[in-house]
Amino acid sequence: MSALDSLTLTAIPPEDEALREPVRAFLREALQDVPSRVRAKSWSGYDPAFSRALGQKGWLGITLPPAYGGGGRSAFARYVLVEEFLNWGAPVGSHWIADRQSAPLILRYGTEAQRQFYIPPICRGESFFCIGMSEPNAGSDLASVRTRATRTEAGWTLNGQKIWTTNAHHCQYMIALVRTSGDFGDRQKGLSQLIVDLSLPGVTVRPITDLSGDSHFCEVFFDNVQLQADALIGAEGKGWEQVNAELAFERSGPERLFSSIVLFDEWLAFVRTPAGRTPSALRLAGKIASQLAPLRAMSVAVTEKLTRGESPLVEAALVKDLGTGVEQFIPAAIADDLFSRESADVPLELLQTLSYVTHVAPSFSLRGGTRDILRGMIARGLGLR
Ligand SMILES: Cc1cc2nc3c(=O)[nH]c(=O)nc-3n(C[C@H](O)[C@H](O)[C@H](O)COP(=O)(O)OP(=O)(O)OC[C@H]3O[C@@H](n4cnc5c(N)ncnc54)[C@H](O)[C@@H]3O)c2cc1C
Repeated sequence: MSALDSLTLTAIPPEDEALREPVRAFLREALQDVPSRVRAKSWSGYDPAFSRALGQKGWLGITLPPAYGGGGRSAFARYVLVEEFLNWGAPVGSHWIADRQSAPLILRYGTEAQRQFYIPPICRGESFFCIGMSEPNAGSDLASVRTRATRTEAGWTLNGQKIWTTNAHHCQYMIALVRTSGDFGDRQKGLSQLIVDLSLPGVTVRPITDLSGDSHFCEVFFDNVQLQADALIGAEGKGWEQVNAELAFERSGPERLFSSIVLFDEWLAFVRTPAGRTPSALRLAGKIASQLAPLRAMSVAVTEKLTRGESPLVEAALVKDLGTGVEQFIPAAIADDLFSRESADVPLELLQTLSYVTHVAPSFSLRGGTRDILRGMIARGLGLR
C-alpha cells in the first residue's frame, strides 16, 4: 500500500455544491462595499454581527445535529461554506474557532447538559470560544503545559497562564488544556480540558499587538479562578487524546491554503487589465493556480476522511505544511511582480492589501503548529521516525 493511498481524491457531492450559489449571493451583497485590504483579514476579521447573520441563515454549526441547533449536514457542506467565506474574505473570525472545533469537541466529549448549554448559541453566532493550548514555555512542546486545575469541593481552582490566544479578548469561553494531576514532567499524563468562562473573577486577558498593528491574540492569566465541577469537558486525564482530536479539525480546513486568496484575486484583477498584463505576471498566475489546485483537491480528500468519522491528523499536517508554503509564496511573489513595475500603474488598494498580507504571512506557518512539528508528524506517518 502506498503511503499516499490515504489521500484518495474525491469530489464534493452535488447536494453540498448546491450550497455555493445562495452563499455567494449573500456574500456578494454583504461585502460589496468592503475593500480588499479589509477582506484580506478573512478568518482573522472580527465581526459578531456578521456571525449572527450567518447563524440566522443556518450556516454555522452546519455539521452539528439539529437537536442542538445545527444543520445536520456533512463535512463537505461545511467545506463549501468555508471555502466561499475565505474566497470572498468574509469576516468570520468571531465564530471561527467555536464553529470549527469547540462545538464538535463538546458534541463528542461533552455531557448532555454541556451540549444543550453550549452548542445552540454557537450555532446562532452568539457564543464565541478560544483555544487555550499554548503557554510561554509550551508551544510546539504542548505536553509541557503547567497551567493547573486543582480539585475543590465545588469544582476546580485554576492557576497559570496561556499565550497567543486568538480573540480571547472577544470570546466568552476558552477550552483550556491544563494539568489536573502530576507535574509537567509527566508530559501527556494528567492533562485535562476545561471550559473556562472568561468573565470570571481572577481571569485577566491582555491583548498582544502583532506586526500588522492588529491585536488579535492575547495573554490570558488565571489567578485562583473558581470553576464549577462541570467545567471539565470529557474525561479527567484524557486531555491529550482530546486535544489531538481537536487539532485534526484545526488543521484540516481550506483556511490552511486560502489565507492569501483575497490578495491573489485582487492581483489577478489587475493582471487582467491592459496595464497589469505582462508575460511574467501571466506565468506567475499560472504557477500559483497550479499549486493551489492540487492542494485544494487534497484538502477535499481530507474532508472526506472527516465525513467518515476519521481523525486525519497526518494528512491534515501534509496539506497544512504545503498549503501554508503557497500562502507565504503568494505575497512574496506578488511583491516581486509589483515592485518590478512603474509604481503609477499599480492600484493603491492592491498595494495596501499586499502590505497587510505580507505583515501577517510569517504567522501562517506558526499558528496551528509550526512547519517543523508538522514535518515530524508526516515523517512518523511515513514510518520514518
Ligand atoms: C497568529 C497565531 C495565532 C495563534 N493562536 C493560538 C491560539 O488561539 N491558541 C493557542 O493555544 N495557541 C495559538 N498560537 C500559538 C501557536 O500554536 C504556537 O506559536 C506554535 O505552536 C509554536 O509554539 P511557540 O510559539 O512556543 O514556538 P516554539 O515551540 O518555541 O518553537 C520555536 C521554533 O522552534 C521549532 N521547534 C520547536 N520544537 C521543535 C522540534 N521538536 N523539532 C524541530 N523544530 C522545533 C519550531 O518549529 C519553531 O520554529 C497562535 C500562534 C500564532 C502565530
